[in-house]
Amino acid sequence: AGKKVLIVYAHQEPKSLNGSLKTIAVEELSKQGCSVAVSDLYEMQFEPRTTKKDIVGNLYNPEEFNYGVEAWEAWKNGSLSEDLIEEQKKVKEADLVIFQFPLYWFSMPAIMKGWMDRVLVQGFAHDFPKCYDSGLLKNKLALLSFTTGGDKSMYSDGGVSGDIRYLLWPMQICFAPEYATQDERRQMVACWRQRLRIVWEEEPINCTPEWYYKL
Ligand code: FAD
Repeated sequence: AGKKVLIVYAHQEPKSLNGSLKTIAVEELSKQGCSVAVSDLYEMQFEPRTTKKDIVGNLYNPEEFNYGVEAWEAWKNGSLSEDLIEEQKKVKEADLVIFQFPLYWFSMPAIMKGWMDRVLVQGFAHDFPKCYDSGLLKNKLALLSFTTGGDKSMYSDGGVSGDIRYLLWPMQICFAPEYATQDERRQMVACWRQRLRIVWEEEPINCTPEWYYKL
């Protein structure tokens, strides 16, 4: 209770399985007494491109545009565009950020990648050497919840798509909902609800190459 959650959600259709998983998360976490914010990226028509428009006012180096440098400087000066500042506020408040999306080309949809590119600005989310274990968002939890087209065997060790762990780390996967039976899909949604009930007791994954590749 009292925890704050941000759900960054990328699906065009509220009736989709992704839409259901998002709704379940809002319901379940609200029931626990958490306050839940949702960034519904398609609904917001979120701009995914990293352009000069993200910097309000004068550029740091108008002669030669470097997005990373300009965004970093703009963050320091409070001159990032309003939509970015709004998203950063939500991230700053959140104890847990859930990313809910369908897998697109072994990754997240472009609109969500654009959210990461634009919102997680140097100085706000990370700095050098303040990154990884000592990153600026280190006390927050993150959870990737996504659906796939391929089934579980395709994403297993030796499967045609490769072990899913090689792609993404802290995750909750619903494999191939379009090809599952209605009962199997209901089970996926129920599993998600169950997972959310114990999410605060989970130990974060130790995201080191040793753990990952079992070196
Ligand atoms: P939906 O089609 O919305 O859902 C499946 C069914 O579940 C629907 O009939 C829906 O009505 C039903 N449903 C909704 N809510 C519930 C509920 N509460 N209980 C029971 N049933 C419910 N896949 C890969 O594996 N790898 C890739 O690299 C990849 N790249 C892609 C790239 C693009 C551009 C696109 C468009 C797709 C790609 N896919 C890929 C496939 C994609 O990941 C799947 O189509 C997607 O994950 C399916 O999720 P959905 O929410 O869209 O499913």
